[in-house]
Amino acid sequence: MPKNLLERLADGPVICAEGYVFELERRGYLQAGAFVPEVVLEHPEALIQLHRDFVHAGSDIVEACTYYAHREKLKIIGREGDLERINKAALQIAKQFAADTGTMLAGDICNTNAYDPKDPASHKAVRAMFEEQVQWAVDAGVDFIVGETFSYAAEALIALDVIKKAKKIAVMTLAMHQADVTRENWTVTDSCKKLEQAGADVVGLNCIRGPKTMMPLLKEIRAAVKVPVAALPVPYRTSPKEPSFQSLTDPGWTGVPGSKPFPIALEPLTCNRFEIAEFGKQALAMNIRYLGVCCGAGPHHIRALAESVGKKPPASRYSADMSKHAFLGTDKQLKKVNQEYAKQL
Ligand SMILES: [Zn+2]
Repeated sequence: MPKNLLERLADGPVICAEGYVFELERRGYLQAGAFVPEVVLEHPEALIQLHRDFVHAGSDIVEACTYYAHREKLKIIGREGDLERINKAALQIAKQFAADTGTMLAGDICNTNAYDPKDPASHKAVRAMFEEQVQWAVDAGVDFIVGETFSYAAEALIALDVIKKAKKIAVMTLAMHQADVTRENWTVTDSCKKLEQAGADVVGLNCIRGPKTMMPLLKEIRAAVKVPVAALPVPYRTSPKEPSFQSLTDPGWTGVPGSKPFPIALEPLTCNRFEIAEFGKQALAMNIRYLGVCCGAGPHHIRALAESVGKKPPASRYSADMSKHAFLGTDKQLKKVNQEYAKQL
């Protein structure tokens, strides 16, 4: 029997690439706005290539691309009738690819945008949405299920309850916006403790915050819970003044509609691979072992993260070696006339 997620985490760090819908949008196969993964049916080859790119770069996990493939979102784009088809196809694509590469297969459910703390009917509705998606994931034989990007911790607790009733390992990650509290005003430590007490196997944070503004909250969570902790920031240069990627501004160019670069003009604010590697090192030093990068992640980020915690994914074969660069390199075969010109490049 291959080791399960918790056994793997007991052995050392595990890498999980996320942010599929962001990357597929950039590649031209998915529409920003609704961010629904219609790509699953319309361009499955693009999704398979993305799974390939992320596993090659070091992801130990293939997540089914079912983020926002829930009833509320599909209704908004008029495709509620395709709900089951999209979920099952995403799961089958991920399952096949995980089997081919010996990686772990994860189901995925997320924030619904239908949850309203004051409306008990919405609690029932989101539970039903999670139940149908979790059942499809169970039917597909997933190794575990990720419940992600919840900014209401109470909605995460409903998702967790559904996953645990299905007897699956649950990785629960909250998404923190500008405030250091969830939308119902719970601290991250209280929220993660509640999730732990309710049976979450891994708790932590994903999306919304970049490495710099996620790290302080991760420290608090790590100190508060006993279960493994997950950390999957977005690769953007958030700061105490602009702690979330939605709140970021770009001093270099203010011409975007609404003046905010989120979500499709964030490129100038992207973390480089060294910043992601630094995050990986710091997180692992705090014994945070479930590591990934969310919306905005490219394969180069995933490789840098994997290498920062001591892994050597297939893509490391092509990690930079500047010693052979014509002008900046040091190799003895290089021409001196070019090396001497290096400062003038
Ligand atoms: Zn994300």
